[in-house]
Amino acid sequence: MADIQAPKGTKDILADSVSCWQWVESTARQLFSQAAYREIRTPIFEQTQLFERGIGEATDVVGKEMYTFLDRGDRSMTLRPEGTAGVVRAYLENGLHAQGLQRLWYTGPMFRYENPQKGRQRQFHQIGVEVLGSKDPRADAEVIALAWDLLKGLGLGDLRMDLNSVGDGDDRDRYRTALVDYLTPYHGDLDPDSQDRLSRNPLRILDSKNEKTQTIVQNAPSILDHLSPESRQFFDRVQQSLADLGITYRLNPCLVRGLDYYTHTAFEIQSDNLGTQATVCGGGRYDGLVAELGGSVTPAVGWALGMERLVMLLQQLQTVPQPRVDCYLVSRGEKAEAQSLRLAQGLRHLGIAVELDLSGSAFGKQFKRADRSGAVTCLILGDGEAEAGAVTVKWLQSGTQETRPQADLLAHPEILRQEPPTQTPPA
Ligand code: ATP
Ligand code: MG
Repeated sequence: MADIQAPKGTKDILADSVSCWQWVESTARQLFSQAAYREIRTPIFEQTQLFERGIGEATDVVGKEMYTFLDRGDRSMTLRPEGTAGVVRAYLENGLHAQGLQRLWYTGPMFRYENPQKGRQRQFHQIGVEVLGSKDPRADAEVIALAWDLLKGLGLGDLRMDLNSVGDGDDRDRYRTALVDYLTPYHGDLDPDSQDRLSRNPLRILDSKNEKTQTIVQNAPSILDHLSPESRQFFDRVQQSLADLGITYRLNPCLVRGLDYYTHTAFEIQSDNLGTQATVCGGGRYDGLVAELGGSVTPAVGWALGMERLVMLLQQLQTVPQPRVDCYLVSRGEKAEAQSLRLAQGLRHLGIAVELDLSGSAFGKQFKRADRSGAVTCLILGDGEAEAGAVTVKWLQSGTQETRPQADLLAHPEILRQEPPTQTPPA
């Protein structure tokens, strides 16, 4: 078995880091519920068509990153590369669009066939939110504030936000012409990917990572100069709302996002402590997607955040407390071992976290494990205690020890959670 390894680009999340993941999830859950966002869970695979239509065939995700396979009925299926398309499909299929504005959030694994690097995996996890059915610029500000509050609430101070507007379809058509006019004379100097994009998806050239392409792009016309008065006004109101909330950002006209369905607001949150894969969270408005997937025109806005990148940042801060049991139970001898299981269960029913030593080894070895467990107390059940229906409690920090009837302990389980007050000897 040892020669079978986890697939390239996947990672086991071991118990030591799971507490960090759970902390992020519970913080997010609480924040979302305070803002009336409700969780939605959609399938991990969908019909391939959903992503081809909902993300766009000219994107990297659909063009080269999807895990697509034929199932046994010869249907083309794809492991979801992102969450939004599935949420919108569920929204339409379950008639949620008839129930007014929807504020939704999700979390789970996503799959993209990429070159694994630090912060870039083939199976990775996202938390995301979507607001479906509002074209109010406050919705854009609300979702951005949720991402910002989540990251700040987890203690991350060192974050930057880039903001842009990509306008609506007409704005982009006008801009695309201006951009292609500007870039065409440089065709030979662009990197091969960007040359290819010039005809297929020229806006994506703006976020090319190639240095030479970046210098050319620096003097390109700005999309912000090609917005209609309505789009301009919408973007002004988003910015005003963010300013009202005290959220700072940098305007970045080169921020275009990778997916075709984005309109108006686009944003990304980055950290300098992540290396090359610096973006933790990205999102924006996607007023075109619901109609693209067969619904009536429905404005929408949302974001997705990369859990692996976020957990990496939090682990650099070392702020995550590891869970500890209250009590470590050791026992030896037939009768004592039989009682240990009952006692452990009885205490757990009373809310005490108990780790039961199952080794049957000498008391000395069991005590060592008790010390390493981080528990407050160690419960000791030997033959003597078992005969008497008693148990010895040892407070591991002070070494204080006393033997009590088991029934007494079950009546006062709270003593297992904290060191007893130190007794001052009589003068
Ligand atoms: P990138 O430019 O890093 O490839 P993206 O634009 O493809 O990101 P989105 O589709 O916007 O990413 O996904 C939102 C977030 O999900 C990203 O900001 C990132 O934190 C995370 N993410 C995306 N792809 C991966 C991956 N392969 N491995 C780990 N995290 C990822
Ligand atoms: Mg990507």
